[in-house]
Amino acid sequence: MLTVNVAINLPVKSLFRQFTYAVPEALAFLDRGWRVVVPFSGQKVEGFVVERVPAPTDDAVLQKLKYVEAALGDKPWFDEEMLATAQWMSKYYMCSLAEAMRLFVPGKTSIKRRAVRDAQGRLLYYVYNERLKEKLVLAYSINDAGRAALAEGMLAKRAKAQHLALELLAAADEPLSVSELAEQGASGAVLRELAKRGLAVAGSKRILRNSYERAAERKEYLQLTDEQKAAVAQINAATDAAAGQTFLLQGITGSGKTEVYLRAAAHVVDAGRQVLVLVPEIALTAQLVKRFQAWFGDNIAVAHSKLSQNERGDVWHRMRTGAAQVLIGVRSAAFAPFADLALVIIDEEHEGSYKEEDHRPRYNAREVMKERCKNTGAPLVLGSATPDLCTYYKAQQGEYTHLYLTVRPNGSVLPQVEIVDMRKELAERNFSVLSRRLQQALVTTAAAGEQAIVLLNRRGYSTFVMCRDCGQTITCPHCAVAMVYHSANSDLRCHYCGNTAPIPTECPSCHSRRIKFFGTGTQKAEEQLETLPEVRVLRMDQDSTVAKFAHENILSRFASGERNVLIGTQMVAKGHDIPNVTLVGVLSADSALNLPDYRASERAFSLLTQAAGRAGRGGKAGHVIFQTYDAENRIIHLAATQDYDSFAKEELELRQDFFYPPFAQLLKLTVLDKDEGKGSALAQRVAMFLQREQLEGRLQDLLVSGPFPALVAKVRDLYRFNILLKAQDLQPVKEALLQSEFKEQKNLYFDVDPASVI
Ligand code: ADP
Ligand code: ZN
Ligand code: ZN
Repeated sequence: MLTVNVAINLPVKSLFRQFTYAVPEALAFLDRGWRVVVPFSGQKVEGFVVERVPAPTDDAVLQKLKYVEAALGDKPWFDEEMLATAQWMSKYYMCSLAEAMRLFVPGKTSIKRRAVRDAQGRLLYYVYNERLKEKLVLAYSINDAGRAALAEGMLAKRAKAQHLALELLAAADEPLSVSELAEQGASGAVLRELAKRGLAVAGSKRILRNSYERAAERKEYLQLTDEQKAAVAQINAATDAAAGQTFLLQGITGSGKTEVYLRAAAHVVDAGRQVLVLVPEIALTAQLVKRFQAWFGDNIAVAHSKLSQNERGDVWHRMRTGAAQVLIGVRSAAFAPFADLALVIIDEEHEGSYKEEDHRPRYNAREVMKERCKNTGAPLVLGSATPDLCTYYKAQQGEYTHLYLTVRPNGSVLPQVEIVDMRKELAERNFSVLSRRLQQALVTTAAAGEQAIVLLNRRGYSTFVMCRDCGQTITCPHCAVAMVYHSANSDLRCHYCGNTAPIPTECPSCHSRRIKFFGTGTQKAEEQLETLPEVRVLRMDQDSTVAKFAHENILSRFASGERNVLIGTQMVAKGHDIPNVTLVGVLSADSALNLPDYRASERAFSLLTQAAGRAGRGGKAGHVIFQTYDAENRIIHLAATQDYDSFAKEELELRQDFFYPPFAQLLKLTVLDKDEGKGSALAQRVAMFLQREQLEGRLQDLLVSGPFPALVAKVRDLYRFNILLKAQDLQPVKEALLQSEFKEQKNLYFDVDPASVI
């Protein structure tokens, strides 16, 4: 008898192990990679066949085996490459195989059972389907009578429109939808008539939804610079060699990285193969998508984060069948199936959005792609102006091939950066968030008919509310953070849990009525900007971009010149290329630097460089103003000169001294508990377990710090405690934890290569 091991697709942490099922005769073709339906604790659930295994020799065990109920699809969903990647993920990210595998299937537990009954209503059998709805539309095809009529020219004279429609149907090798026919001049009425005469057949056709249809730009033929040519040549050679080589394409802002991606992708498309382009967020990279559309037209599928499950199913279907050759997508597109993947490009590879932060497993799409590329031989191109320091280090060490783009090909020069000391502004009694220098520059820019971008990384109106008499700040009842005043609805909001509250009329602790608002967020800054002559402001932050395509709308209104100043959080600093922007102001350049995290400098440097890179991209000279209370800060000065290599050299020395990545691996353990005492006790037990292992010599180079309360010690009523583990090689530690009692502990979370340690 055939038996298989199945990973159960249920989001339950205790399902680390797989279960053995017997395979009925009718499903004897089942093998690794098939999606199946199996009975599991009284339910029918989806599972993934992990391997065929020898049947148990013990008869009693054999008798008890349950049978696989049905197979999903018409071939295995997982190929060897996907299986290998899922295996790697479960080991590296400390999750179950099922948790890794379920990322590769479109949608969650997505099966539906339909009973098939005979005329007397007796149950015959069940049919299982994915819960995905295929979208079907009315479509026509030609039949033999129609072909004969066409050959005889029966309709050519008297019913010309019907004759033409028949010709269209005869030329197509699949049914044509009503809209496809209409595009070519055959109306629905004509087709209904043909069907009535028995010359065409009405049926249905699967339509692949494309929720990202936008007007394409014209394809531009640019003469590549020597650096661009060299980069393209090396990437193309690697695509042909299919040896899974990794590249770091380090190019200053505006150096034409996108042009390199386009040529490398075209090379793949010409060869009839497929390319994946990952971007941090589709909404902020509309320009990149448009340039790809100009080159590849409908040959592109776009997977953004707001796709419905059905739309996602369609996108994946197009890639799996090879119907499209280019996939542009966000983090989750790292798990798409491909007919023939030949190249992977990750734009802005340093971006935090490639890291899953909320759900298990907490993977990084960049590392997942590295593994998939290793397994398929597709080269991986990591592009950035400010690479992740770990990526940069690997390129320096020769592990990755380092490609540089050092000039802006359209002749524009990097902007002049000026640092304004906000302490002086205070000393001279300017209490506005806008320095006098920046106010003046904004006015001049507006008067010249040019545009400006202003970055302030705090949304809301004011940033906290405090009692003047006792110093009490208003905090969220569910989270250990201050609530933020929002002027839109005149209420207080928690940025961690979304909870809202009315503005208090008196202090909750001393009942004083002297409540005051402090700090400045984007809404208040917008108000202040509006008072400057000729300045008309658009704001882009999380609050103004809730609607679908809101980012695109704001950016295109700004690009059209309707408004001349764009203020917003870090989303204004990313990706876009607006030639008329000549001024960039950063209101609080040091805010990102003050976080107690080892990556604070790296993030601040990257954000400042990206922001500055928005100025002066067209013909005109750019000007940038960094406002800071820390005017001597090294990082701010390095960002002002856009000198990534010097920054990296200094920062890597610090990382080495303090034993942080890329010199150490990090694992963050987080305990979440409603009960502060219980949470703390569990965290202590985990730390003690690790210390004991260490003492007993099993985990020698391990460093354990904590447990300590997280920087935000409570979110959504859950107390958070962190333990930070560092080692040159964490694999033994991971294994020790996975063999311990803590493996299935529900409220303990493993975060491998955490984005931050706070
Ligand atoms: P990056 O992605 O590196 O920030 P882009 O690819 O957006 O840069 O290019 C910046 C600008 O330079 C774009 O307007 C692009 O059209 C232009 N550009 C790119 N390559 C060339 C080239 N070889 N010749 C002229 N202009 C170019
Ligand atoms: Zn008070
Ligand atoms: Zn809250």
